[in-house]
Amino acid sequence: MLEEAELLLQKYYGYPKFREGQTKIISSILQKNDTFAVMPTGAGKSICFQIPALLFEGVTLVISPLISLMKDQIDSLNSLGIPATFINSSLTPRVVDERIHQASLGAFRLLYVAPERLELESFVELVKSLDITLLAIDESHCVSQWGHDFRPSYRQIGPFIKRLPKRPVVAAFTATATPEVQEDIVKLLALQKAQIFVTGFDRENLSFSVVRGENKRDFLTHYIAANHQHSGIIYAATRKEVDQIYNLLIKQGYAAGKYHAGLSDGERIRNQEAFLYDDYKIMVATNAFGMGIDKSNVRYVIHYNLPKNMESYYQEAGRAGRDGGPSECILLFAPQDIVIQKFLIEQTVYSPVRKNNELKKLQTMVDYAHSPRCLRRFILEYFGEERVPEECGNCGNCNDQTELSDITLEAQKIFSCIFRMHEQYGVTMVADVLKGSNAKKILQQRFNTLPTFGIMKETPLSEIKDRINSLVSEDYLQLTQGKYPVVKLQPKASPVLKGELKVMQKTIQRKAKLEQDDSLFETLRKLRREIATREGVPPYIIFADSTLSEMSKYKPTTSKELLTIKGVGESKLGKYGSMFIDAIANYSEASK
Ligand code: ADP
Ligand code: ZN
Repeated sequence: MLEEAELLLQKYYGYPKFREGQTKIISSILQKNDTFAVMPTGAGKSICFQIPALLFEGVTLVISPLISLMKDQIDSLNSLGIPATFINSSLTPRVVDERIHQASLGAFRLLYVAPERLELESFVELVKSLDITLLAIDESHCVSQWGHDFRPSYRQIGPFIKRLPKRPVVAAFTATATPEVQEDIVKLLALQKAQIFVTGFDRENLSFSVVRGENKRDFLTHYIAANHQHSGIIYAATRKEVDQIYNLLIKQGYAAGKYHAGLSDGERIRNQEAFLYDDYKIMVATNAFGMGIDKSNVRYVIHYNLPKNMESYYQEAGRAGRDGGPSECILLFAPQDIVIQKFLIEQTVYSPVRKNNELKKLQTMVDYAHSPRCLRRFILEYFGEERVPEECGNCGNCNDQTELSDITLEAQKIFSCIFRMHEQYGVTMVADVLKGSNAKKILQQRFNTLPTFGIMKETPLSEIKDRINSLVSEDYLQLTQGKYPVVKLQPKASPVLKGELKVMQKTIQRKAKLEQDDSLFETLRKLRREIATREGVPPYIIFADSTLSEMSKYKPTTSKELLTIKGVGESKLGKYGSMFIDAIANYSEASK
């Protein structure tokens, strides 16, 4: 049966083989076992129930909480030639009845429903007329109060299954589940002898790196300039920071959008759509953005601030490269970010046990930001993935070719200034004194009479601050906790001041371009854009970027050749094949 499944994978999706985790999960479902899979975002959960849906008789009912995503998912399935539809509160009762009626006649392989439906007696009665052979539950952690987005209506799923005339195979999926939540899911969904899989956490096409001690704005400016043709997300911790970055990018002339809780619903939806449709290449957002974002051609995710834990980080970073193309996940680290996150934990978590837990998780992120080891390995070990390679060869640490430079003199200036200010002030004040600012607060304290006043006047203020922060991250200095963090000297600073220890720091390499786009790729992208506009769907629904880039690499000129490209199945070949073949032929002709 697995061979048959693989044929369908090629036929509909245009992919030659399953990923390792998918094979195990699909086999389990095809053997009619209740199945529970923990797979991170982008690992390919949907195919794990869509392929069995094509092989089983009857219809597969998919429970999904993401109403905003349903239409997109159904558009995707339909474009692959798979008959599917959805039912949620955006439809009138008449349309709902009609869709269920059609489903009972066998018109759909998959029927997506929002969990709230299960609370409607009339719906449950109607559904009894369907031959449901597989029940797939997406985002199944929503059933658990311990999970991060509990949805009471998920509690209806267990009783709902019991009421069905014939018990379907039940398959539950989630991207995040601590052991506690896993147990809850199995129990509350009343899975029977569930086969459990924790898999697919490795995302080979993602390259992870951490940037420390560099001016974040400068980094961003250079990075975006080098990668402006690609789509990317920039996450920041606060609305204010999002606004600032957004303004910076707009001023530099980029097509960027922003997203945070301070915008109206309308603005948020508009910006999100513009990003999905590639009208905005860059989205600057708080972590409010992304739930239910399925855009597959996001080439980079930059975290401008430290996220609160590895779970959030991996989920957000994982929005890069869903099409399997090489993508970058970059964390910009500055020690003040720790202070902000600690402050947020203090403000929002009251139970001491939970507070401690959150602080521990935050510390793991800080460790990640400082780890000299393979970053992928760090992540995979954290999530308990079974097989982890020693070094991945595709992360900031595995590929580290930076050189060290001696910054002892600068460090001495900074330390002695802090010492003379009696370790009572924050980063900004210390930097102002080193720069030689004549601000009122400096003159009032008579800091202009210190021998360290203005000894770094040649250095830009932002650079002085960065230096101080990077000395914090290397433990020469420490920032106190609380609202107004103060810089203190650490024991490591003393031998530096005495001239017994040198301070070395990495010199920063500018990021190279992700990949060189050729003009054929651009031509195909334009064609995709035209088709997408005509059909009123986002471009990635037509073909993923990775599919276009394979086309521009191999230049297929026959249907048979085109079918060997990843992401080209029979349905898409029929609909778009000749247009793309023509475009490639024209291009080759013109460049002869
Ligand atoms: P998830 O729901 O786990 O976040 P998706 O089901 O959206 O992930 O899949 C992520 C991406 O990976 C999609 O673009 C999908 O088409 C692609 N994908 C899934 N399975 C395979 C496969 N076996 N080979 C190649 N690409 C795949
Ligand atoms: Zn590595």
